[in-house]
Amino acid sequence: MNNFPSDKALVPFVSVENMMKLVHHIGIETVLTDLASYIEADFKRWALFDKTPRVASHSEEGVIELMPTSDGEVYGFKYVNGHPKNTKEGLQTVTAFGLLANVGNGYPVLLSEMTMLTALRTAATSAMAAKYLAPKGSTTMAMIGNGAQSEFQSIAMKAICGITTVKLYDIDPQATQKAAKNLTNMGLTVVQCSSAEESMEGAQIITTCTADKQNATILTDNMVGSGVHINAIGGDCPGKTELHADILHRSDIFVEYPEQTRIEGEIQQLSDDHPVTELWQVITGATQGRTSDKQITLFDSVGFAIEDFSALRYVRDQIKGTDFSIPLDMLADPDDPRDLFGMLQRAK
Ligand code: NAD
Repeated sequence: MNNFPSDKALVPFVSVENMMKLVHHIGIETVLTDLASYIEADFKRWALFDKTPRVASHSEEGVIELMPTSDGEVYGFKYVNGHPKNTKEGLQTVTAFGLLANVGNGYPVLLSEMTMLTALRTAATSAMAAKYLAPKGSTTMAMIGNGAQSEFQSIAMKAICGITTVKLYDIDPQATQKAAKNLTNMGLTVVQCSSAEESMEGAQIITTCTADKQNATILTDNMVGSGVHINAIGGDCPGKTELHADILHRSDIFVEYPEQTRIEGEIQQLSDDHPVTELWQVITGATQGRTSDKQITLFDSVGFAIEDFSALRYVRDQIKGTDFSIPLDMLADPDDPRDLFGMLQRAK
């Protein structure tokens, strides 16, 4: 219970605990499928949005970023970090929170945790992209990097693309064991592998989702056969990539927002005029996704503000009329809007 007057403008806040309750209430596969639909709907109205590469503050240890966008009616932003060394200290590599506001008056309408929500939206975006780009009838995914994002990625590919087998590999076998355990009874055949090559055998979709603050080479050119779809998630910062440049030269590359991906994605290794296709154009049918069985398609994912906006929009719609949020006293609302000081005095 709160002691606020009933006419007080309060902002719903979705805590981590409530986000987890919401996901269980709806069911994770439904959440992922619904999120992909919300993201897809927003990608279809791409031109409406304010778009800017995220605002990044880099340090030796990691990065802190702000990701803003607006569709003209609603404004949203996410605060997110990326600190690969964190897990060694018992902390998450990625944590996040985000906000939606009314463009008409600038007042916030939702504040939410976004650590869980980022994992869900990143997985939903991967599967949405794979739906358009992966070979038809794909059944097997290699999941390289078995950290925080990996189970979400695997379940989204099952729910949205019909993957039945996931082959796990991580340089840390404990991470693979953790992911395998978490994926038990999720309707997937889970295979633990001892090398990246082994995980890729027979896989039509290859997801790389590793964390290392350097230009890593998780995949080399000779490891990648023709006809596969690569879903590269972990390279999302200047100086942080996962694929050898030769793979990029053999692939048709699909990106969220080129202005951001050229700074942060795998394509930072290529010249600025290397051709890429924007995913929204495939989704609207303006251009084609996969055109042949032999083609290597690469989704060079970095995570874009519109996906977070869609995810927050989804949460806002789902919490209406439920107990999955807490009202926050974030807005001063004096009876006379110009008497802010009087409000302070009366609170003495
Ligand atoms: P995490 O730290 O929980 O897991 C990363 C895993 O990668 C660890 O288990 C680690 O052992 C493994 N790894 C590191 N180097 C490897 C290698 N050479 N081969 C195999 N495995 C290796 O991180 P997370 O939260 O799962 O995030 C993974 C990556 O995805 C991060 O780089 C993060 O920045 C990125 N990310 C991208 C998006 C996006 O939208 N594209 C969203 C969220 C996170």
